[in-house]
Amino acid sequence: MNPKRFDELVEVCQAIDFETPASWLTRTALRQGTSVRHIAEHLGWPVVGDLDLLFPSMYPFGLPKGVAAIARLEIARRVMAGFKQTGISPDRLLLNERKRSCYRFCPLCLESDRTPHIRIHWRFACFIHCPLHNCLLEDACPHCQAKIRLPLSLLHAGPTGKGIAELDACRRCAGSLADGEPQLLRPSASDSNDWEKARLGNGRAVLSALYHGWFRVEGQTAVRSLKALRSVDQNGLIPRRA
Ligand SMILES: [Zn+2]
Ligand SMILES: [Zn+2]
Repeated sequence: MNPKRFDELVEVCQAIDFETPASWLTRTALRQGTSVRHIAEHLGWPVVGDLDLLFPSMYPFGLPKGVAAIARLEIARRVMAGFKQTGISPDRLLLNERKRSCYRFCPLCLESDRTPHIRIHWRFACFIHCPLHNCLLEDACPHCQAKIRLPLSLLHAGPTGKGIAELDACRRCAGSLADGEPQLLRPSASDSNDWEKARLGNGRAVLSALYHGWFRVEGQTAVRSLKALRSVDQNGLIPRRA
């Protein structure tokens, strides 16, 4: 990936911390007034396949120096590199729909974004609540139930094919994804909720482990490698929501 290829783009979006490569590519294609395929080909990025998952193989030793536009995709790159190390099947932990990358979202995060963008943790089946807003993540558009699938050429998205301007709008109906009532979590003293709380915490802990490359089991001092996450998953301790 020659940094020059980035320079040749007239207006490149700046990636945002935690943003996924697929989200950045989607925004950049719109800014350039073209398709994601065209931009991906220009950058030498894959035009088919799971871009988030392929990203650490494209940049195994880190992102290229001097390319400020994508420097903040480093968090996503590290998380996905960590995920590959676990050996857990992508089908178990990554959200997909019709072989396309799929994401949940927090309506309150999208509402407060200056530049709406999709976070890498929203791709994981185990990450089911937003710690910033203490609400459950949403699976689909509150208006038409379409899911977020990326990358996507926003130029021709929306109900009339005339395009949508931002990632906080539904790709199918163009309605705001921030509409609808957030499902706030309420504190409760019951045992079952303690269990649920622990499982929610585990979902977040998995993402932290993927980023750092190691984890500890609560109450133990030994540091475990990411490969050990497979047995944590097999014991049902990594949460999922259908
Ligand atoms: Zn949020
Ligand atoms: Zn919709």
